[in-house]
Amino acid sequence: MLGTGGTIASTPGEAGAAPSLGADSLLDAVPELDEYADLRVEQVAQTPSFDAGVETVAAVAAAVGDVSADGVVVTHGTDTMEESAYYLDLTLPADVPVVFTGAQRRPDEPSADGPANLLTAVRTATHDRLRDAGGVYVAMDEELHAARDVTKTHTRKLDAFASPDAGPVAAVTREDVRFDREPGSRSRQFDVDPSAPDATVAMVESGLGVGADGIEFGLDRGVDGVVLEGTGLGNATAALGDAVADAIAGGVPVVVTSRCLAGPTVPVYGTPGGGQTLRDHGAIFAGDLPAHKARLKLLVALEATSDLAELRECFASD
Ligand code: ASP
Repeated sequence: MLGTGGTIASTPGEAGAAPSLGADSLLDAVPELDEYADLRVEQVAQTPSFDAGVETVAAVAAAVGDVSADGVVVTHGTDTMEESAYYLDLTLPADVPVVFTGAQRRPDEPSADGPANLLTAVRTATHDRLRDAGGVYVAMDEELHAARDVTKTHTRKLDAFASPDAGPVAAVTREDVRFDREPGSRSRQFDVDPSAPDATVAMVESGLGVGADGIEFGLDRGVDGVVLEGTGLGNATAALGDAVADAIAGGVPVVVTSRCLAGPTVPVYGTPGGGQTLRDHGAIFAGDLPAHKARLKLLVALEATSDLAELRECFASD
C-alpha cells in the first residue's frame, strides 16, 4: 500500500483541509483488511492530488518496481486520480494489479468513505482474476474501473467515478466481486521512464465564439503540442481551426478530443473548424479519450517520437 495524500489522508485546519495522516494510520479504521492481505505500507508522497505532478506518479512507479508484492493499492486524491492511474498504465508494465483509491470525505467527517474504499481496493487487488491480469485500476464506491476508461464525474458525491463508454470492470458486494468485463490493461504501453516527460502541451477548449488566442499564445510560448478540446464530435470554431492549421504547419502536433462526457471524436464537418477540416489540416483524433488523458498520452508519446505519422499511430489504438 503506497500513500500519496489526498482527502483520504486529510485533516481539517484553520487555513483549510490538507493531507497530513500517514497511510499506515488509515489501516486502523479497517480491521477487516487483515482477512484479505498482509499489508506493507510505504508513504511515497503527501500531497493533494490537484497539485500532484508526474514526479508523484514516478515515485509510485519506482515503489511498484521495488516491492515484491502480489498487488499494490495506492491511496491518492480523487481530483487527478484517473490521470495518475492512466499515466502509470501508459508507462509501467503492471504485471501485478495496481489499484488506486481515495475518498470524497475526510476521516473526521460523517460518513467518511475512505475506509470502505480502502477495503474495496484491497479486496479487488487481491482477487485472483486481477492477479492474473495485472493492470491499473481505480476502486471507489464499491466499483472497480480500468485506468483507461474511468473519470471523475461529480465534485462531491460519494458515487463520483464512472467509465462513461466502457462501464466498470466489476462491482464489489459485501459477499463477492462481480466482474462485468475482462480485467487487464487496455492502454498502449510506452517504453519511457515515467519521470522523463518534459514536453509542454497546451490545452485549449472550443466553445461559443472562442477565438484563436489559446493556440496562438501556446505557439508563441513554444509549446511542443496542443490538445484541442472540441465540441460534439470534435469540432471547433473557424478561428481555432485556422490556428490548428498554423500549428501543424509549424511542426506542432494537435490532438482533438471532445468536451462531451462520453462518445468518440469523429471527423464529419467540412466547414472551417469542422472535424473533417481539422483532420485535413493534419490533426490527430483521440477517440473517446478525454482532453486531460489525451494530454498525458501526448506527453508520453512525444518522449518516443515527434513524427506526426507515428504520433497519429499512437492514438489510433488504445
Ligand atoms: N478532493 C480531493 C481528494 O479527494 C483532493 C485531492 O485531489 O487531493 O482527495
